[in-house]
Formats: sequence, structure tokens, C-alpha cells
Amino acid sequence: MKHYSLTKFSIGIIAISLLWSCQQDTQWKGQEPIQRVSTLTKPIQLQLKKTFDLGDGIYCSNEFDGARLNGIVLSNDTLITALITPENTPINGSPWYAFKLWSKSEKNMYLKLTYLEGVSHRYYPKLSRDGINWDNLDSTNFFTDTTGIANGASPKSISMKLSLSEDTLWVAAQELITSQHIYKWEQELAKKPYISIHKIGESREGRPLNILKIGNSNDQKMILVLSRQHPPEVTGYLAMKAFVEKLSEDQSLNQKFREKYKTFVIPLLNPDGVDLGHWRHNAGGIDLNRDWETFNQPEIAAVKAFMENKVKGSGGKFYFGVDFHSTFHDIYYTINPELKGNMPGLVPELITEMGKEFPDYQPNIRPGGLDGPKISSTSFMFYTFGAEAVTFELGDNTPRPFIKQKGEVAAQKLMEIMVK
Ligand SMILES: [Zn+2]
Repeated sequence: MKHYSLTKFSIGIIAISLLWSCQQDTQWKGQEPIQRVSTLTKPIQLQLKKTFDLGDGIYCSNEFDGARLNGIVLSNDTLITALITPENTPINGSPWYAFKLWSKSEKNMYLKLTYLEGVSHRYYPKLSRDGINWDNLDSTNFFTDTTGIANGASPKSISMKLSLSEDTLWVAAQELITSQHIYKWEQELAKKPYISIHKIGESREGRPLNILKIGNSNDQKMILVLSRQHPPEVTGYLAMKAFVEKLSEDQSLNQKFREKYKTFVIPLLNPDGVDLGHWRHNAGGIDLNRDWETFNQPEIAAVKAFMENKVKGSGGKFYFGVDFHSTFHDIYYTINPELKGNMPGLVPELITEMGKEFPDYQPNIRPGGLDGPKISSTSFMFYTFGAEAVTFELGDNTPRPFIKQKGEVAAQKLMEIMVK
């Protein structure tokens, strides 16, 4: 591929990509029914971590937590080609990427992201100059390769036009939020007198599995909040963060809520996957959200033990559980409404009340069936502990202010409903 063909056909390609995204809106119907799979540990492929000298004074690095880059070459004077591969297969098609680029002299380059056979591009590129503040790549600098793919399908590769200089440019699939960012956020939050941090276990590679305890009530009425089982699902994490910060505010309703309910939050359930730059799995090569029946992975076994000990120790109950994720759109996966847990009707009422705050917004609700394997977090919370549970999915591209608002409104409405 020559770079000038990109420029020449850019308008056409933008039009095609708009068409693609619209069609995707109508075609994508949510995830397939989940299948029972073995969650016994499998090997993962580690990345070669290094600074790549591409020649021509251009350098690239994946030497940081959360990075993913499996190969990169200078294809010609103006084109860099990168290869992104997963930690193992089979795997959900959510190719995460993150790396840094710089150049001794200022130059504009095209960067092409390629994947292995059968994998399509998913995440719209984000750029940063400091690894902390991120912006979407300008759409005039984004090009999808639609040759040879069916109408409406995702592109197999994409290209972006970048301005390189000595000033490091970070390129990533979503905002880079690794274990260090999250542990720091936990510590900030734990400065409040009614919030504390406890370690409930360790990941396979020995990273702490922290739980935030919010409120000083006895443990009779409990709530569990989970996030980042799936490493790239940053938008779910951002909604969880807004949700938890709202619950932690010093308003009278919030205080009443905290007196009545103890909220436990695990903001980072898969720290190894996040720091290793995984697409989906933990360091045991397993999708953690399929391990809630067999508990083969230490991260999930730790949560199970924590919940069991809490219920055994206090005689209390879990009333509500929420697990934050990301997908192509905002979706609520709920337990079948015919089934009654410890607070029947809570989740439907919560979604209805939230909807009143967003009059033009049609919530996408997908109730679970009555049969089917009980292998996900929300199934475990509901079928084992009676917690009214919901998987709260945020879109990959949902505007960040709206994600924050949704997280806050969810917390506000939950407190109003559960305190009354
Ligand atoms: Zn997920």
C-alpha cells in the first residue's frame, strides 16, 4: 500500500467507514449466549518488551505497563506497519494496542495497524503526549482498509497519519489506565473516614486484589461492585469510577445509604491482564468471566471466598451486585425478571428510574434466560447469594462525559431506591 492512495481516497474511505459504523449499529445484536468452556490455566504468549529502532531516526517502545505491540517495521519512507496479536487463542476479538513513538526529526508518518487472520480492528485510536491525557485521533487522519471485506463488516486493518517528533507520542486503543493508576485512585478515595482498602488476595502474578469498603454499617446488608475483568474495557471502568465516587459523596442521602448498606468495590479484578496489555484474559490465559462456576483462577476464587466469608461471618446478605464492562453499545444484561432475589424488582426499577434522567435515551436491556450455564459474575452473585445483579455495559465510543453521568445517575437512583 502506498501512502498517497490513502490521501487520494480519504474522503471515500471516511464515507465508507461512516456507512460501516451505521450498519454496525443496526446489525450488532449483543453478545451470543455464553458457552461453558474449560477455565483451566493455559499458556500465554508474552510480548518482547523493547525499544524498536525502526531506522530513519524513528523509535517505538512497548516498555510500559499496559503496552501491547508485537512487531513493528518501517515499510517505506512514510509508512510504519505494526502487528498486534493476542495473548492466546481462541479469544474474543477485542484487539488492544498501546505503544510509544518518537522521531529525531519532525516528520509526518502513516502508521498501519495489522492483526492476524480472522481478527478485525475494534478500538478507535487515542493519542497522548504524556500518557495521562488522551484525545481521539482526528478523524481526518484515520483511514480504514475495507478492501476484500463484506459490506458492514469491521476493517481488517486501519491506518493513521501521525506527526512524529522528539516529543513522545503515545498511541493506544483506549485511555491507558493500568494497575498503578487504579491503586492510586483507591488511595485517594480511602482518605475519606468511611472508606478503607483491604487486600482479598493476589492475582496469578502476585499483584494485589484490592477491595474498597465503603460505609461503616455492620455487614447485614451488602453490595458488590466489580470492574476490569476484561482488560481493554476502560469505558466500563470509567462508569464504575463515577458510580463509586458518587456513592462516596458527603450528602445526607449518601450518608443514610452508607449507614444502611456496606458497599464492597473491586475496581481491578484482572490486574495482570491490564498490565500485560491483554485483549481479554488473565495471566492464566482465561476469560475470567467464564470462571464463576469452577473457580480455577485465583482472582475469581478470591472473590468467591470473600463473599462466602462475609455471609458466614455476619449472617448478612448481598442485596445488589453490579459488574461493569464495555462493548460496542450501552447494554444492561439482567437476570431473568421472573426470578426473585433478596430485593425483587430492584434492577428493573433502577433501569426505569435512570431512564427518566435521559428522556431521549432508549435503554438496551437483555434479560438472561432461565437455563444456560451460570458461569458469569452476575449469575454467581444472584444464584449463590440472591444479590439482584446486573452487568452494566458501556459502549467503546460512548462520549466520556455521558459515561460519567450514567455512572453518577446509577449511583444516585440506586441510593434513592434502596434507602426508601
Ligand atoms: Zn467484558
